[in-house]
Amino acid sequence: MQKPIFIGNWKMNKSGAEACQYLERFAPAVTAAKLSDQAEIVLAVPYTLIETMQRELTRHKATIALAAQNVHWLPSGAHTGEISAPMLKEFGVSHVLVGHSERRQFYGESDEGVFKRAEACLGAGLIPIICIGETGDEYKRGISREVVSLQIKNGISKLPKPQVIQAIIAYEPVWAIGTGLSATPEIAALMHSHIRSELNQVFGPTLGEQIRVIYGGSASRDNAQRLCNSPEIDGLLPGGASLDADHFLDLIKAGIKKQ
Ligand code: PEP
Repeated sequence: MQKPIFIGNWKMNKSGAEACQYLERFAPAVTAAKLSDQAEIVLAVPYTLIETMQRELTRHKATIALAAQNVHWLPSGAHTGEISAPMLKEFGVSHVLVGHSERRQFYGESDEGVFKRAEACLGAGLIPIICIGETGDEYKRGISREVVSLQIKNGISKLPKPQVIQAIIAYEPVWAIGTGLSATPEIAALMHSHIRSELNQVFGPTLGEQIRVIYGGSASRDNAQRLCNSPEIDGLLPGGASLDADHFLDLIKAGIKKQ
């Protein structure tokens, strides 16, 4: 069984000085509590912080991986403002968020774009964290399963085998993101089982069972243990709760303390 994974999404937050201050607290605490022996820990930071974070993590000798929050699918070219997978790889990034609901909602990212980004990540040796999930309206209409099935069909199902087992799927109901209204562990577990059965169907059970499915949407130190108690949930993707070093530390400790 794989270790649970906890991925903090900083979104468009923190200056270089704030990031260093965070790591002064976070990195030694992760090492002292041997959290990296029990969990994988990743920080998804703005591009501008990657180099500073890399340097500081090396200085702290901390086993914490870095993720970017988006990527272009082409390796290079006339795409002003974009960053490619090989560029991120060169900077020591290991993971990339792909298709976060804020990208889908505010920047029109489609399932096809999600597929191309995830494929580029796998091709460059990066781990795509592919975000899927239904909106509040879709949830109310009772079509959550259909929505994620379509996102899997169009954005994930054609990813190459066997590399696809490197990918991580993040189930993030849009109505739970940044609202303080997390999905209950029961709802999350039901959706995760549905996602798992879709992955098994698409890639076959041998590969499908190996793809990690994590939960995001108002995950916090208060609900991490209950969410992670479910065998269907392989980790958490907190946004707001990861911005404070102590909160994220508490969340990780709660998440690995299964009952
Ligand atoms: C996110 O950014 O993916 C997220 C789940 O945010 P929050 O935890 O703040 O809801």
